[in-house]
Amino acid sequence: MTTTQVIRNVRPLGAAAVDLVLEAGKIKALLPVGSAAPELPCLLDGQGQLLLPALVESHVHFDKTLWSMPWRPNSAGPTRNDRISNEQVLLKNFDVPIAQRAGALTEHCIALGSLYFRSHVDVQTVWGLRHVEAMLALRDQYKHLIDMQLVAFPQGGLLIQPGTTALMQTALEMGVDIVGGIDPAAIDRDPVRHLEILFDWAVRYDRGVDIHLHDPADLGRWEIERIADMTQAHGLQGRVMISHAYCLGAFAPVELHALADRLAELQISIMTCAPSHVTVPPVAMLRSRHVNVCSGSDGIRDAWSPMGNGDMLERAMLIALRFGWSKDSDLEMAFDMVSTGGARALGLPAYGLAPGCPANLLILPAENLAAAVVDRSPRRTVISRGHIVARDGVFLAR
Ligand SMILES: [Zn+2]
Repeated sequence: MTTTQVIRNVRPLGAAAVDLVLEAGKIKALLPVGSAAPELPCLLDGQGQLLLPALVESHVHFDKTLWSMPWRPNSAGPTRNDRISNEQVLLKNFDVPIAQRAGALTEHCIALGSLYFRSHVDVQTVWGLRHVEAMLALRDQYKHLIDMQLVAFPQGGLLIQPGTTALMQTALEMGVDIVGGIDPAAIDRDPVRHLEILFDWAVRYDRGVDIHLHDPADLGRWEIERIADMTQAHGLQGRVMISHAYCLGAFAPVELHALADRLAELQISIMTCAPSHVTVPPVAMLRSRHVNVCSGSDGIRDAWSPMGNGDMLERAMLIALRFGWSKDSDLEMAFDMVSTGGARALGLPAYGLAPGCPANLLILPAENLAAAVVDRSPRRTVISRGHIVARDGVFLAR
């Protein structure tokens, strides 16, 4: 039985129409439209729709979500510590398993076109490794459809919660991919020690690093400089991400050129969800100096916020709105953050529409990339490794 098939008449990234030949779950060739052998089995007649690589969700917290549950009004207090303790109480006693909530959300995200994920997973003494165990099982359950990286995330602090460092190491030994950190100064009050521990683990376990950094202005900038120092000292170029980096939005972009050049040289990625209530990194300047920038949903309907729907095309639109972008080139930049920029940040070995890449595809009606970001059409066909797994927002691969 042949595994060769064709998707006829689709426009890759808005270019001229092609027939896309797939073989063994990968892209084999892009041929001028109408020229693929007529006897090849047709997986889909694209009818001139836009062909995109599957989207990349670079920062999400699947283990925290209340997705698929009845609406729950947000009950958190105003500070970050209020939100952390509110979530601990809620999730510790929640009787709906992570697998059910996170599984439903994963399928929803797949149906919207994301097939690559980096999910942070809480490692806290209040519930030990329960979230890690659940997310490792979930990753295994969906591994035939998606690529999912997991980050060991000390949400409640690394040093201020005795016992967390031992749990973090166990999580890494269990197979979690990335060492996570959080606000080394504001939460842990010992930024150098916090970072030394993360980078020591990264070397010892041969893992990347991904740090939630909400610390403001000069403090956060100083920490980014230390992260750069340690990335260089430990030889972790290309394996470090700084998530949020609100501090970079507190400066005039021109003041950050030297730091941006250092981030680019060390291939440290910046992740921003482009939230509207805080300062955000100057994405256009960072990209102009070759810093890789990606995006994610962060929390999706959880104890922190009821917001979010996992649609990375909508995230691209929200990025554009946050920065006032309206040119096609700007909207293409936003799209890049939820596609190629994410793939680079996650270190994906083969991503895109070139021959040899996995046939992980999103096909939808739009004239071009800019229109795809603005329209966010719900009429999406999602193909994972050569199989149609979702149509029109409905997950089909159960
Ligand atoms: Zn986060």
